[in-house]
Amino acid sequence: MKRIFALLAALALLCGMVSFAVAEDITYTGVITGGSLHLRREPSSSAKVIQTYKAGTEVQILENDGTWCKVQVGKNMGYMMAEFLDIKPNYPHLGWGKTADDGTVVNVRAGAGATFPVVYKAMSGCAFELIEEAGGWYRVRTGSQFGYVEKDKIQTLSGDFELAFSIDDTTSAITASSLQTAVREYGSPKSIVRSEGDFTYSLTYPETGVAAADAALSAWTQGMLRAFEADQKQNHPAEKASCAVEYQSISLDSRYHSVLLIAEYKVGGLKAEAVLALNIDSQEGAVLDNESLFSANENRALFCLESAASKLIPKPTDGYASAPDKTWLKYAALAHDGVQLYLPAGLYIPQGWGTRRLTLRYTQVAECMPLSSDTLDSFLRVIDPSQPMIALTFDDGPSEYTDRILNVLLEYDARATFCVIGNKVNLFPDVLRRTVAGGNEIACHTWSHPNLTNLSAAKVRYQIESTVNAVRDITGYEVKVLRPPYGKHNKTVRSICAEMDIVIAHWELDTRDWSSRNTNKVYNAIMKGTKNGYIILCHDLYATTAAAVEKAIPELIAKGYQLVTVSELLSFHKDGATPGKVYNRVDPENIVTGQ
Ligand code: ZN
Repeated sequence: MKRIFALLAALALLCGMVSFAVAEDITYTGVITGGSLHLRREPSSSAKVIQTYKAGTEVQILENDGTWCKVQVGKNMGYMMAEFLDIKPNYPHLGWGKTADDGTVVNVRAGAGATFPVVYKAMSGCAFELIEEAGGWYRVRTGSQFGYVEKDKIQTLSGDFELAFSIDDTTSAITASSLQTAVREYGSPKSIVRSEGDFTYSLTYPETGVAAADAALSAWTQGMLRAFEADQKQNHPAEKASCAVEYQSISLDSRYHSVLLIAEYKVGGLKAEAVLALNIDSQEGAVLDNESLFSANENRALFCLESAASKLIPKPTDGYASAPDKTWLKYAALAHDGVQLYLPAGLYIPQGWGTRRLTLRYTQVAECMPLSSDTLDSFLRVIDPSQPMIALTFDDGPSEYTDRILNVLLEYDARATFCVIGNKVNLFPDVLRRTVAGGNEIACHTWSHPNLTNLSAAKVRYQIESTVNAVRDITGYEVKVLRPPYGKHNKTVRSICAEMDIVIAHWELDTRDWSSRNTNKVYNAIMKGTKNGYIILCHDLYATTAAAVEKAIPELIAKGYQLVTVSELLSFHKDGATPGKVYNRVDPENIVTGQ
């Protein structure tokens, strides 16, 4: 999935949408990777095992919900975990391509020839999977939709990508007509309704009084109109066509505003649409560059975006391992409850979905944004030291379960400390980057998890330094906390830490998650044992811990706890954080509340 994000995000502009889909079954083959894999009766790790197959076995994928695949192996049918299958479509696949970025509308036809009917309209920059060649045509696919495009209209892309969308339509599309009733808080509407022969258009967009914004809005609207007119003249001279542009405009405060335009083109039962998001600084009289809108912390913005998108787009087989390309951000519009992000049809999501909207709450992304606005400032992360704080810590990762914990932390705007093992960080570099992007702390849990008290000073130093260096190489993050394995430390360990400007984090509450491996027991350990100022020990190694934390985090927050990192907690200690010193909690009487 990260590959298709990288591909699609590299493309500009938007794609048209279809009024009907060409139904076709797509089947996939999976090959078992890693070790052997159970075939189970139900999609659950506790379901009865029908048979166990060894790595390399090929299975037919019947269904895939992202976690479990319904598969057929010989005569057996059952469920296997998607993450252990290397899944590929078993239909022809030539590669990838896109339509040119020249603003023209491209016809996608039902067959390989200009006499076949047009099945949908693709805007410039639309991405396709190229399935096969047919004379001067490519058979192409986007989402579940197939069609034919002339080869000279397609630029082929290098590299291989996997199309892993599954169609699970949960929210409705945003269309030009749905914007007719949208909020219009900024600018005064300008309407142009005209009929020129068979081409009618109805354009409504705002006049803002900010010259740069008005020029951009007018240029985009006129450009769309010209592209649609050209398409009608060339491809549908005998048919009536129409174009509608509608808008929404929001004033975040007296200075910052956003305008969203959608252009919709209809001809001969076909439809195409395009989206423009414009953010305006009326004080400076400028249109904000959307990519620099998040320049204060782009990685975190992308991390939030990716997590939000994963709720709309079902998690594909190879996961959202890395952040999407920042060109996503150009479809972002500032709104009251957060940044609205528009996903144009065919570009990031299947063609037939239409344009979809995601909202990133300001509590998640305000700190990414360099806007100096009172409205935004009020959303910034603030820790109130007079209120209870706790530091959740996760040892022995990163692992395949770390992402789940990162997602729940993000959802509740909480932070934690991940005490990583050096020799694992290169196995999960994207998880490590997401950890940092989420505002979490990375602590050193040594390179290979030895009892440090049995090692020479040189070996202790190596265990710490190699981990700190590996984390820095991947993320640029500077580790400031050591969690010694087994909680064991001695004078040598402490003095090396003092020298390296590193504090030692022990714990006050041990959830014993490694021993119980039981979601309820871990959850109860956290909920019953937690007190203000505690450092809490968990391990991001188990699905049971991830599940317990998913349940506990919202409840801890509801109880008034602020979930902070170890360094954030220690930053409120009246003596500050002392390198080489061991902390297992910070008592409320040692907290500087600032009053
Ligand atoms: Zn450990």
